[in-house]
Amino acid sequence: MESLKYISTRGHQEALSFSEAVVRGIAPDGGLYVPTELPANSLAGINGEESYAVLAQKVMAPFADFGEGVLEACTNGAYDSKFSDPSVAPLVTFDNTSFLELYHGRTLAFKDMALSILPRFMTAAAKQLEIKDEIVVLTATSGDTGKAALEGFADIPGTRIVVFYPTDGVSDVQKHQMVTQEGDNVMVMGIRGNFDDAQNGVKAIFSDEGLGRKLKDRGFVFSSANSINIGRLVPQIVYYVHSWLQLKKQGKIVDGESFNVVVPTGNFGNILAAWYAKEMGVPIKKFICASNVNNVLTDFIRTGKYDMNRPFHTTASPSMDILISSNLERLVFELTGRSGEKTAALMADLKKEGTYELGLEMKAALGDFYGGYADDAETVAAIRDCYSEKGYVMDTHTAVAYKVLEDYRKETGDKTHAVIASTASPYKFTRSVVEGMGISTEGLDDFQLIEILSEKSGMVIPEPIQGLKDRAVLYPGVCDKDVLAYKVLEFLGI
Ligand SMILES: *Cc1c(COP(=O)(O)O)cnc(C)c1O
Repeated sequence: MESLKYISTRGHQEALSFSEAVVRGIAPDGGLYVPTELPANSLAGINGEESYAVLAQKVMAPFADFGEGVLEACTNGAYDSKFSDPSVAPLVTFDNTSFLELYHGRTLAFKDMALSILPRFMTAAAKQLEIKDEIVVLTATSGDTGKAALEGFADIPGTRIVVFYPTDGVSDVQKHQMVTQEGDNVMVMGIRGNFDDAQNGVKAIFSDEGLGRKLKDRGFVFSSANSINIGRLVPQIVYYVHSWLQLKKQGKIVDGESFNVVVPTGNFGNILAAWYAKEMGVPIKKFICASNVNNVLTDFIRTGKYDMNRPFHTTASPSMDILISSNLERLVFELTGRSGEKTAALMADLKKEGTYELGLEMKAALGDFYGGYADDAETVAAIRDCYSEKGYVMDTHTAVAYKVLEDYRKETGDKTHAVIASTASPYKFTRSVVEGMGISTEGLDDFQLIEILSEKSGMVIPEPIQGLKDRAVLYPGVCDKDVLAYKVLEFLGI
């Protein structure tokens, strides 16, 4: 089978292999790489009895250009006992709602689903392309990507990993997970600013050609572990296929019957992977996009107008505190009928005015999406309701999705089976979770709350955060948002 090629969303026509797209991360015109087409009929050989690793290999086979056995080595290496649940992503079902638990990896968030395999893709790609340069992976994080990327890339030969996080935009647990990271090829730095500042800073480094050349002369090449990298997106398609197979196994849907997905959304990577899964044959009816009060996507889906000119809020679901949703560009590209020219024009509007508006036809094409949001009080109330009704504990991001699903059902009367992407362990965002369980958190730090959550819920503290608070801080550094390039050069000794 000929493997897929990848082109930029902004019209740069060169078609790259998967290996090239993964190493580059972002296209030279600032666009994101997308497959020239999505594989049809590639799910035919799947029978639902595969292990997650084998399923991943089957789903991703058409996407990757690696030689014989290489993809298999990647999937087997990624989806093993690092995941604390043997099924990797268990589907927990109550009536017509299922929770697809994507947080059983090393860092307790769904980012592990893709970031446990991306480093393997990157080294396989470098080998395939005979790249001798060291790959410097630059990452902006709203909290979860950073740790998952660190965990994935630490001590991987031929790579360095640099993570920038907003000092005031992440939870104590998230921050402590990152600044205690071990590994010889690692740098972690706080920035004074929010996630968008971090993401813009990193994007600016990518598009700085002079800097790129300087690095190249010293034997380095930049890449990205953010979900702008197509190597992040493709592995996320797998768990939507997996959830479909599990729903059939659990007797919740029959062959040919469709289901809805509900995704707590920030950078739009996770929900876009669901959309790709549908293009590949997974029968998803509605894509319910859940936001917190940074609800730029809710408005976009309802009106067709993207407008980031609004206040930025820090919330109890910090991994969704984003006003520039990078991967939306990939959907916009589809909505424009795959026009690089139109997409580039809209993205230029976004850069210049902070806003863009879709044409009428494009708006109509958004019909499979529903957008909604929840504020922090509603999020905590959702945690409380779900816990008292089902005895099930959700994290804050999942709770946002839960609330938006309720709103959707009330508004539409649609009772179709819904799969909620459960994106983080409740242990990552203990304060709101414990409050939601009706316990006062006053005067308690996040680490004490971990103990309380465990006592009250009876859930064992996940191994990766046992003893976290006693680990030594290795990266206390904080910098201004306009010196990121300098910090990178310093780290590389240039
Ligand atoms: C990253 C993240 C999200 C948002 O996912 P996107 O793919 O960026 O939309 C939601 N919840 C959690 C816990 C996350 O870490």
